[in-house]
Amino acid sequence: MNTIDYEKLAELLFPNVTQTVDDMEKLYPPRNLPEGAIVSRLAPSPTGFVHLGNIMQGLTSERLAHQSGGVLYLRVEDTDAKREVAGASEMLIEMLSHYGIIFDEGAALDENGNICDKGAYGPYKQSQRAFIYHVYAKKLVREGKAYPCFCTEEELEQFHAEQEAEKANFGYYGKWAKWRDRPIEDIEAEIAKGNKWVLRFRSTGSIEHKFKYNDLIKGEVDITENDIDHVLLKSDGIPTYHFAHAVDDHLMRTTHVVRGDEWLASLPFHIQLFQALGHKLPKYVHIGTLMKMDGTSKRKLSKRKDPELALSYYKSEGYPTESVVEYILTILNSNFEDWRRANPTAPLDDFKFSAKKMNAAGSLFDIAKLSDVSKNIISRMSADKVYDEVAAWAKEFDAEFYAEFTRDPEYTKAALSIGRGGNKPRKDFALWSEVKGYMGFFYDKYYDVNGIYPENFDADTIRSALRKYLKVYDPKDEQTVWFDKIKDVAEELGFARETKEYKTNPDAYRGHVGDISSFIRVAVTGKQNSPDMFSVMQVLGEDKVKERIEKQIERLRG
Ligand code: GLU
Repeated sequence: MNTIDYEKLAELLFPNVTQTVDDMEKLYPPRNLPEGAIVSRLAPSPTGFVHLGNIMQGLTSERLAHQSGGVLYLRVEDTDAKREVAGASEMLIEMLSHYGIIFDEGAALDENGNICDKGAYGPYKQSQRAFIYHVYAKKLVREGKAYPCFCTEEELEQFHAEQEAEKANFGYYGKWAKWRDRPIEDIEAEIAKGNKWVLRFRSTGSIEHKFKYNDLIKGEVDITENDIDHVLLKSDGIPTYHFAHAVDDHLMRTTHVVRGDEWLASLPFHIQLFQALGHKLPKYVHIGTLMKMDGTSKRKLSKRKDPELALSYYKSEGYPTESVVEYILTILNSNFEDWRRANPTAPLDDFKFSAKKMNAAGSLFDIAKLSDVSKNIISRMSADKVYDEVAAWAKEFDAEFYAEFTRDPEYTKAALSIGRGGNKPRKDFALWSEVKGYMGFFYDKYYDVNGIYPENFDADTIRSALRKYLKVYDPKDEQTVWFDKIKDVAEELGFARETKEYKTNPDAYRGHVGDISSFIRVAVTGKQNSPDMFSVMQVLGEDKVKERIEKQIERLRG
């Protein structure tokens, strides 16, 4: 074929495409940003499953873009209609904003919760960008860099079988690239018959050629040229990921592509495609797969086996978003934890995120570590903040607890204030769903009347301790007096006033003051573990404390 034929072919395949590449370039001009500003994006497919990978990529792009004074945008990659789930894009946007990933532009939600475009580089849903891809497809055909292929599924399967038998590489290349150099008459004949075609890239690469490429995380990687004539447009005119990537990231003026490293294998093709289109290659940040320990070996987190892969899991379990974000940052940047230790209360924005500090191999996800991080973060929150967060979580996920928790906000906040503030705040819970177990006893509904007492004491002993205590209990006592009274009860019943005394001479006592405290604790809270008893009793108030102890005396009568 000569150049004229390519022109003709381009018209034959895309008769309705009248706009040119220049028109597109004018429509989406380079961004006017300062030197060094990064333009990055999150480009998820709306499959209805939002996962940790999305947030890892989202946070990485977000930090790189915003810390450089650049732009972060969201592009919805909905070119695979088979995988698309209704409402998935909306859910994606909501979930990402829940985790504080705010996009400057891209697909967004309007005030009615419907998807809309925000920004000058849209549409941001790939399904609405067919007219753009076709302009570039036509250009490639005109330049002899792409051609239509009419192979049927059966033929492609046949090639695959032959390649298997010949132990050849799989794919559409060499003698199997049946439509690569066909005369235009053959193509016209197929089109006249109404046969479907896909548009293929005419690769000029060779697997004999290797070169080096510098990935921002992986460093220098060895690349073997691509020799496959991959599909650019499917038979319905919708682009493959590869082609859409090379067009969209160029036109949207992306400088940094942050994506999962499952795309590393396609990089040779992408580099080729950008070159063929005359587009500047963006920088790539390929994030390693998230792994977890399974026994003694590592494996990929799996959608089927690991509920913690889904972001919805953290929301329904009630992990504070701050905790998830903080933990993800510890995974993403190796120096984050040291920074956090040195700056325990600094806002996350103060941390200088860097692609260089990212782990080239897959990172390990450890949910126990996330819980530790979360306990720390919650311990530093104010009671008001914890109240608001728990209320919002419970409203959605535990309506019964919500009713109790919010009935008297001042009471609940007083309960939440125990052990909060000061240099060593208590680290009692890591997620909002643990709050009920921790402080539910403040509400009668969750107070366990059948609380279990320390097992080495009989009911009579416990009952007399409670009776004696009830006689001396005075809510107006300050803490030392309050504790002295418990010691008095201990002494009267032949228990040591101090644990130390008991330890040096255990045979001389029936127990020690800690045991008496335990009896009171179980009576008042229904549990052997609780926040500071003095404060608990103050929040519960005189009536409730007396009522519960009396009930227990009754119960222990047997
Ligand atoms: N839709 C692709 C994915 O979800 C996007 C990859 C990319 O960021 O370029 O894997």
